[in-house]
Amino acid sequence: MARLYLSPPDVSDADRAALVRAFDGGWIAPLGPEVDAFETELAAATGRVEAVALSSGTAALHLALIIAGVGQGDRVAVQDLTFAATANAVRYVGAEPVFVDSEPSSWNMDPDLLAEALADGERQGRPLRAVITVDLYGQACDYRRIVPLCDAHGVTLIEDAAEALGAGYAGRPAGSFGRFAALSFNGNKIITTSGGGALVTDDPGAASRARFLATQARDPAPHYQHSEIGYNYRLSNLLASLGRSQLGDLERRVERRRSHRAFYGEALGDLAGVEFMPEIEGGYSTFWLTALTIDPEVTGVSREEVRIHLESLDIEARPVWKPMHLQPVFADCVFVGSGVSARLFERGLCLPSGSNLTDADRERVAAEVRRALT
Ligand SMILES: *Cc1c(COP(=O)(O)O)cnc(C)c1O
Repeated sequence: MARLYLSPPDVSDADRAALVRAFDGGWIAPLGPEVDAFETELAAATGRVEAVALSSGTAALHLALIIAGVGQGDRVAVQDLTFAATANAVRYVGAEPVFVDSEPSSWNMDPDLLAEALADGERQGRPLRAVITVDLYGQACDYRRIVPLCDAHGVTLIEDAAEALGAGYAGRPAGSFGRFAALSFNGNKIITTSGGGALVTDDPGAASRARFLATQARDPAPHYQHSEIGYNYRLSNLLASLGRSQLGDLERRVERRRSHRAFYGEALGDLAGVEFMPEIEGGYSTFWLTALTIDPEVTGVSREEVRIHLESLDIEARPVWKPMHLQPVFADCVFVGSGVSARLFERGLCLPSGSNLTDADRERVAAEVRRALT
């Protein structure tokens, strides 16, 4: 039997045809009509005025921080439970991440602890310059509290929506919160361009500055003139064509991932000691990955034993992200919290959740999780 992956690329004949059409169109470059159209469509999908197509989600986070004016020695509150890319971008600009723990009710940044981190910074005469929240596994954060908090303290909010394209919260799309949001089109994300990302914002000046910085910061002159350091961060026109084709299929993709979460919930929800990632009130998650926790004191079996059992059958399951404050590279950073993210890491497991996962395959996954636990 073929290996079952956590979240493999889901591509179609229509995607292939779109890519070949773009190839034949002749714009084999990091600009062109497909990039322009993809940007318009991404802005619409996230309820934004502007989208800037980039080479990765990490590049989007990096540019958001630069444009927000975050630099050497500044402090940035970062959601502790995330993929390293979120925190790496803070280091790219020479700033220091301050990691904020999760709330148990959403697994996302705890607004009370964020308030504490903001107040601490002000008391110490080192106010935070920005906040990066993460819509973990496709679920929006508690923006009803986080947005006013950032506004009240005058800090820039950057939403890392890399896993959340197609999600919603309080009647708005994920990617619409904060001054900037970052999207990812990596091979394992909701839609893919093999590699790619976007920065979305309602500020046209910030968007044109992002395009400028992403194109080597070339001054408007007939010769090559540069007054600032730039980057080579634009998305290829060929890949934008793939992104447009994938974006046209967004709704089905999200519905399919959501149906996996519902299926796993039905199939495993009765097991004592097994709990699924809770859903935030007013939220519509992509369920990029279905995540659950296993309490070894109740089940008598650890998360690792379950994962290893699945691995022995060529089923890829992964622990929940290892929190940033426990990463060797960030060991010297401030952490505000009480250990919620660490417990989620110890007990948390992500199950195969791709939008091309079949009914038969997910039934097999659920049956093997149950076997490992009973
Ligand atoms: C994937 C991901 C990123 C990085 O996106 P790339 O396109 O791979 O650079 C950033 N943050 C989170 C939460 C992610 O899951």
